[in-house]
Order: sequence, then C-alpha cells, then structure tokens
Amino acid sequence: MRSTIVLGTLAAAASASPALARRQYGTYKPLVTSEALQADITKEGLLEGAQTLEDFAYAYPRRTRIIGSEAHNDTVNWLKEELEALDGYYDVSLQNFFTVAMITGQINAFKVSGSNASASLFEYSASGNATAPLVVVANRGCNATDYPATVSGNIALISRGSCDFGLKSALAGTAGAAAAIIYNNAAGEFNGTLGVPPRPEGNYVATVAISQQLGTGFVQAIAGGANITATIDVTTDIQNVSTYNVLATTKGGDQNNKLALGAHTDSVLAGPGINDDGSGTVGILEVAKALSKYEIKNAVTFGFWAGEEEGLLGSTYYVEHLPANETAQIRGYLNFDMIASPNYIHAIYDGDGSAFNVSGPPGSAQFEKFLEDYFTSAGENFTATAFDGRSDYGPFLDVGIPSGGTFTGAEEIKTEAEAAAFGGEAGVALDKCYHAACDNVANLDLDAFELHGKAIAAAVATYATSWEGFPARNTTVARRSVPRARRTNESRHHRSRRSQPLKK
Ligand SMILES: [Zn+2]
Repeated sequence: MRSTIVLGTLAAAASASPALARRQYGTYKPLVTSEALQADITKEGLLEGAQTLEDFAYAYPRRTRIIGSEAHNDTVNWLKEELEALDGYYDVSLQNFFTVAMITGQINAFKVSGSNASASLFEYSASGNATAPLVVVANRGCNATDYPATVSGNIALISRGSCDFGLKSALAGTAGAAAAIIYNNAAGEFNGTLGVPPRPEGNYVATVAISQQLGTGFVQAIAGGANITATIDVTTDIQNVSTYNVLATTKGGDQNNKLALGAHTDSVLAGPGINDDGSGTVGILEVAKALSKYEIKNAVTFGFWAGEEEGLLGSTYYVEHLPANETAQIRGYLNFDMIASPNYIHAIYDGDGSAFNVSGPPGSAQFEKFLEDYFTSAGENFTATAFDGRSDYGPFLDVGIPSGGTFTGAEEIKTEAEAAAFGGEAGVALDKCYHAACDNVANLDLDAFELHGKAIAAAVATYATSWEGFPARNTTVARRSVPRARRTNESRHHRSRRSQPLKK
C-alpha cells in the first residue's frame, strides 16, 4: 500500500506511472484535421465495407438484413468487433430492445374474376387465403360505420387516403372481412406498412395494395351491378424480435460538447439494403475507424440504429432512454441515410427551413451551411431535402437537438434540373433499387459514396475540434408537439425523400 502511494505521488510530478507515461507518450496522436480525416476515406474502404454487408445478406436464402434476420445480427456483431478493435478508443456497447417485425411475407396468389392481377403486400399484413366477392367500403374506410354489414366474410375494397393503412385493415377485420384491398388515390401502384401490431381497433386481415386504375374500375363495375370475386392468398411471418443498436463513444474529448452521428443498420425485407442504409453505416464506420488515429477536443458518439425501416425504432429507443443530462451533452446530431444512390443528387437536410418551411432547432441551419460549404469547396452542386423527420434524426429533433446530414436520393424521379446539376439520367429514379432486392453493391455509385463519406469526415473533424460559431444548446426546449403525426403525415411534403415505408 505504501509504495503505491509513494509511486502515485511521484507520478504526478514526474510521469513515473507507466499508465500516465503511455497516455503522454506511447499513444501520442496528432489533433484531427479535416484534410487528414477526409484523406482516410477511400472508395476501397467504403466498397469493402459495403461488400461485407452484402456478403452477410447473401449468406442466407432470404438475402435480407431486416431486423431479426441472421444477416442483421451479423451486421451488428461485425460493427461491434470493428469498433472494439480500435485499441480502446471507444466505449462500445450494444443496446438491446424488442419489437415486432414481419420476417417474411409474400403474395401467393392475387386473382380477380379468375385472372392474375398486380398487387403488393402491406408490411404486417395478416396471413390469409380467401376467395370471395369484393364489397365497396364507403368514404375512405376510416370509420367503422363506413363498413357495410355485407363486408363480413367478403373482401373489403377501400380507397387510400385520410387515415393510415393499418386503421383500414383493422376496421375491415373488426367488420368480419376475410381480406382487404386498398386501392391508390393517385396514379400508379404503391406499397406501405400497416404499422407494428397490435392496434386497439382490431386485428389486421390479409391486406394488399393495388393501383387506382384497377381499384376505381372495380368500384365502377360493382356500382353498375357487377359481382366481382377475388382471390387473395398471402403468407406472412410476424415475430417478436430482439435487436440491437451499436453505440460507440470516444473516451477522449469533452463529453459535455459531444457530436453524435448515426446511420441505420437494418434493411427492408425485400433486399440487402446496401445503399439503404449500408452506405451510411459504412460511411460513419469508416470515419469512426479513421478518427481513432487522432486526438480530439470534443467527444463523438457514433450510433448504428436498428429498426429504422419499422419506424425509427432504434434511434427512438436511444433518445427516449437517454438520461436528461446526457441528452444535454449532445451539441448536435448528423444523420446519413442513403449516400451512394446510383442516379444521385447531393441533398442536404433543410435545417434552416428555407426550402421546405420546416426548420430544425438552433444549430440545424449551421449544419446545413457547413455541408453547403463542403460541397461548394468540392466543386459540386447541392440541393435541399425536406427536414420532415422521416429518418433517424427525427427523434433527435423531437428533444431539441440540432440535426443535419446528407442524402443522395431514393425512389424519386430525377428532374431535368437535377440532371443538369448532378449528371445522371432525368426521368429515372434516383435509386431504382430503393427497398428492392437489387439494392446491393452493384447499386452503389462510388463517386457519390466517396464524396459523402468525406463530408462525414469533414464534419466530424470540424466539430470534434471546435463548436465555434455554433449556438449553445437550449436544453429547456420542450418536446415538439405531435411529432408522430408529423412523421406519418405524408401529405405535408412530397411523399418521396423518405426512408420509412408509407403508412397512409
Ligand atoms: Zn434508410
């Protein structure tokens, strides 16, 4: 005991303690700079990470990284190992939470009057196999009184609109329908989610989506006296799932002036999710790895969220379980969800509200400006994307944390103006493989991936060094009112630019 005390006293004066000596000399690291950290982000590194995620998905017959899948669990474990391999630079942890997820789902048959017709399956649809007459539901099927008694035992035909898909399916189920069809209220086909069950209005029935053209055709024919019989045969597997966020916080740096950033680790059921959001996952991982070579002044937390596709589950869980004092430590949050789209745009979340009239908490505009300056200095054009809470920054906005980030586009069709600004093909989706089986490594644009990866590096290096010019956190900000309604209200902004499935 005594000798320890003596040594400790000496250590303070003369660095005699091995631990202190190591801290001072053995692991000397230069202070991070934007140039150095950007130089560490390469196409090779990004591609290798993306390939690893694809390999996880393709190692299993379902070829998906949806939460609860083997490949998603492999993704989580790989991230944890990669972050733990950085010589203790980060405190790494898994944050476990539970949810309900549709593990598999398919339409075995959809026939109208004996002929095959085109339909898509709603996420969280019940399984079912029914052949029965179509019964038209009044209005938009948002009230129990819209469902005539004749719906019982038959197939409810419901217009999209006014309320979420899940309510329609539940009310159809409560009315005794054998299955439900929701037809579009705009041109074209669509798909979406009923939302995680259970819900108070009742149990879901087998529910599919069809085009407006098909649906209104049936409505008119039935109004004219026709009797139309349909067959809906769907199989879904909905399970309770245990899943994980991966969290890594630098041990160094001022924990009271922390930068947080995040991406989501899960895909939809339909594919491996390599652009959505393997690109963001690998982008922030590569920056996290590179950062470990440097000294920082402000702490950085990297969040790898699960269950984004089921409704921002992981990021919501994280924010809701963060103690108030730790929430107050986060100066800002940066989100990266889809940053390597094949027909890309360079979009920045509209933190100042100049383009879409929804601004973020003070500091969001500074993040937007920082990223604008980054693209300008890289000689690239940029545009704004709506700041509507439809990705993992939503829960951070809800507690008053300024947010920002970049995005290269989902299923929206590229305009002529966008083609002029960014190249690529007008009239084609920004990511033609959005939420599809083909969202694999071949779907990535590596130039965009590298540019946005370096943008992450530039932001991390900058804010891990100084928050100069950035407003102080207002930690007394009340939770935003009705954030859920905002998040599920697709009509407020164009319904594109989202990463969550449609709910209404
Ligand atoms: Zn996404």
